[in-house]
Amino acid sequence: MKHQGTGVLIGWLVLATITPVMAAVTRPVLTNGPASNRINITLLAEGYTAVETNEFFADATGTVQSLLATAPFADYSNSFNALAIHVASAQSGSDHPGTSTANTYFNSTYDAQNGYIISIPPNWANTNYADGRGKVDALLAAHAPATDLAILLVNDWQDGGSDGGGSLAVVAKISAVYGTGVLPHEVGHVLANLGDEYETPNPGYPNTEEPNTTQQTNRAAIKWNAWISTNTPIPTPEDGNYANVVGLFEGAHYQSNGWYRPKLDCRMRTVSTPFCEVCSEALVLSLYDRVRPIEAWSPAATNVAVTSTGSVGFSVGLLRPASHALQVQWFTNGAAVAGATATNLLLQPAAWGNGLHSVQARVFDPTARVRTDPGQLRSQTVTWNVSVTLPWLELQLPSWTTNAFVFRVTGVAPNGFVVERSTNLDQWWPVSTNALAGPGVWVTNSSAPPGGASYRAVVRQ
Ligand SMILES: [Zn+2]
Repeated sequence: MKHQGTGVLIGWLVLATITPVMAAVTRPVLTNGPASNRINITLLAEGYTAVETNEFFADATGTVQSLLATAPFADYSNSFNALAIHVASAQSGSDHPGTSTANTYFNSTYDAQNGYIISIPPNWANTNYADGRGKVDALLAAHAPATDLAILLVNDWQDGGSDGGGSLAVVAKISAVYGTGVLPHEVGHVLANLGDEYETPNPGYPNTEEPNTTQQTNRAAIKWNAWISTNTPIPTPEDGNYANVVGLFEGAHYQSNGWYRPKLDCRMRTVSTPFCEVCSEALVLSLYDRVRPIEAWSPAATNVAVTSTGSVGFSVGLLRPASHALQVQWFTNGAAVAGATATNLLLQPAAWGNGLHSVQARVFDPTARVRTDPGQLRSQTVTWNVSVTLPWLELQLPSWTTNAFVFRVTGVAPNGFVVERSTNLDQWWPVSTNALAGPGVWVTNSSAPPGGASYRAVVRQ
């Protein structure tokens, strides 16, 4: 028994020592801001050996540059961070069924029927999650839990990729680094849930519409109707007259009939073609579903108490698109402040008066790539509730007694007030320092000079 127990312990230690997660080498590829308000790309090395570590990091950088140079991602390149994780494969490349195999970390393979598709287990070749996707998930959990977009970069020179079951972009090195269009196509699946606009059958594929596919032929009910000119026929003929406009073209979602796409061609149909307007719109909205245009504001607390007359500053920090400016408008008590379109606003509380007020900053992305935004993802508003309690004093009920001047001071003065006296209204001399409480405080000055004097009360700041 003792011997057996020892054996188990040694086995566990050996496993812990060679656990693949431990061998990962991570390196930031692109850092634009805090992970909490960026789309965090994580690239994983597949088919890169230990001696190809630096080649992988160079390819990861090239992949990110290539993706973020592609519309519409280029408009929002500042919205992305990227991290690369190298895990060594025993051999370079990937499996090419019937031709060659490579012993690689995630066990990727090109497809036996469609040589364009690259997948990892569980797949047609190996149903064991732990041999492929399980390793991806373990690495992301250990090194990049904030990942929004995982890319498995396959060290191979045959163009291809896949969307890895909807949440992982698998792409060959040649396709990614040299921009064949496969990567943005797969990213379209992963980030915006875009559908394939192919007509080749895919039996058993779910009958669910994507942002760029539909069965609807009633013009008013087509979800991308905002992009369709009234003189474009519905359905739209597949000829050169309509090659550059958005319409309703039959053939999408692996169906030749009854399913429609927005444009004659698009990256979701032919990977080397730019995204159509409808796919671009869905992608921009998918970015704003993950990052917000206002990433910081001051004061950080949105309940603000103002107790002095000094000016009060408000400001917002923006996540600016690379291609264009965001629009800013400030509001006070619900009304737009004319000309207040900068990222900061200076207010004079004395002009407001005491009471509860609101200050709002509304930020809007006017990108021409979006026409329909029911969730108002392109705009964001920060609201401050401002409670103004400015000090004020009033002198009441003055009277002369036999040998003193008496009056009452009322108002708001949290730090008290000073009574001052002057005989020339130019020089003022302090007479007494007082606290202010309740309905008011009586002040008695028994040393009034002959010939009279003036009195005033001054708030202590
Ligand atoms: Zn499209």
